[in-house]
Amino acid sequence: MTQGKRSDSHAIVIGGSLAGLMIARVLSDHFARVTLIERDRLNDAPEARKGQPQARHLHGLLASGLEIMSQYFPALKEGLSAHGALFNDMGTSIRWYAYGGYRIQYQSGLIGAMMSRPLLEWQIRQRVLALANVVTRDECSVVRLLTAGEPAQVTGVEIDNRSQAGTREMLHADLVVDASGRGSASPKWLAEMGYAAPEETEIKIGVGYATRLYRRRPGDLVGAELLIISPQPPHDKRTGYMFPLEQDRWIVGLGCWSGDYPPTDEAGYLEFARSLAAPDIYNLISRLEPISDILPYRFPSSLRRHYEKLTHFPAGYLVAGDAICSFNPVYGQGMTSATKQAAALDAVLAAKPEPADLARHFFKEAAKVVDIPWQLAVGEDFRYPETTGPKAPGTDLINRYVSRLHQATHSDPVVYGAFLQVMNLMKPPASLFHPKIVWRVLRSKRHAQPQAFQPMPA
Ligand SMILES: Cc1cc2nc3c(=O)[nH]c(=O)nc-3n(C[C@H](O)[C@H](O)[C@H](O)COP(=O)(O)OP(=O)(O)OC[C@H]3O[C@@H](n4cnc5c(N)ncnc54)[C@H](O)[C@@H]3O)c2cc1C
Repeated sequence: MTQGKRSDSHAIVIGGSLAGLMIARVLSDHFARVTLIERDRLNDAPEARKGQPQARHLHGLLASGLEIMSQYFPALKEGLSAHGALFNDMGTSIRWYAYGGYRIQYQSGLIGAMMSRPLLEWQIRQRVLALANVVTRDECSVVRLLTAGEPAQVTGVEIDNRSQAGTREMLHADLVVDASGRGSASPKWLAEMGYAAPEETEIKIGVGYATRLYRRRPGDLVGAELLIISPQPPHDKRTGYMFPLEQDRWIVGLGCWSGDYPPTDEAGYLEFARSLAAPDIYNLISRLEPISDILPYRFPSSLRRHYEKLTHFPAGYLVAGDAICSFNPVYGQGMTSATKQAAALDAVLAAKPEPADLARHFFKEAAKVVDIPWQLAVGEDFRYPETTGPKAPGTDLINRYVSRLHQATHSDPVVYGAFLQVMNLMKPPASLFHPKIVWRVLRSKRHAQPQAFQPMPA
């Protein structure tokens, strides 16, 4: 299968969300045929589906994610832009209150994209489905793996065709990739095949979101394109995001750590916004027109499955995306992690490993992709004493330094630039400990903070 593109080689991807789409794109270069199987119906429109309830909530795309997606789909930015996505310099466009002050605004050269998650996914899906060798089977649920041999290897999947009740079908393939999300059945399927399930690391964080859309008018916000209000742990557990979306909408996500969940009633929602560390979001939404209900989402824990530690794994099978690792969504890393995993798979397949070695090589590379966002997210989450789970030695010490670094971003563009590069997964966290940055952090003082932006008069 990996010895060049055999004319009858076939790969199957389970799950047609972001990870599945990026994996299908990559596999289309290495296999003659790719079949993408999705349980939901996939309409040719930007819409959230039952199988991905998170798609109704705010999704930020990190700069590195956008960059890699654009390498696989060269005109992606233009397509998104044509449907109302906004692209802006992250340093100038974000009005970001964190650790007791506003981060300085400056030209960073890092381009961020703002659009709804359904728009991004629809644009990518259109491009994947336009590939001549990719077909989709939507409204089909994978119910089990097909296996053969001793030790057992994966030879395909059995699907339940939901559009024709009771119709089962067997599909055979050289490679099956499970991108079915956090609820992935892989641990169970592996156990049924006689393999060990992966060890799991779970960090309980008690994160919750409440999301609402508002009508957006020119001049709602002066001097920035979006707002972020981050808390100062450990006492402040509340956060807020307000991003512009296509079709003249704002998406507002109020969130929390440690179970301090935002309410979903009108008055409670506004009161929660008012209680944030800075007044900007409250100032705006208290006078804007809501155009949706308030939708809750609870995310009790970050979860990592250590496939890279397994010594035995069936040939013909891989797992990717949230099925490997689902992060605290507050840091906006999931789609970028999935995209980087797809790029890692591309590189692994290009090296043409023996089929029996593919999983070992891929999981090793995928673990490298996941390590950094996991370390960043989990490190921050441990600022709250209510967070539980395995805590790396030195976390508190690092967090004390990073607190000072956050404060230095109020006044120092070089430190803020270094932070943005790491946060966007462009540079490793170690770059924040470069002597030049440490020196600037240690000498920085808290500066007087500017006033909150006021909305324009109606
Ligand atoms: C509230 C919230 C906010 C988030 N915000 C951000 C953000 O700001 N930025 C960011 O980058 N990431 C964010 N994420 C993470 C992001 O949504 C995921 O990382 C991203 O969707 C990739 O996930 P995935 O494709 O692996 O899985 P999922 O998106 O969960 O998709 C799995 C797919 O598999 C399908 N499926 C499941 N089982 C089967 C089966 N048996 N047969 C066929 N199909 C099946 C499902 O229908 C679904 O379409 C957020 C997550 C949450 C929960």
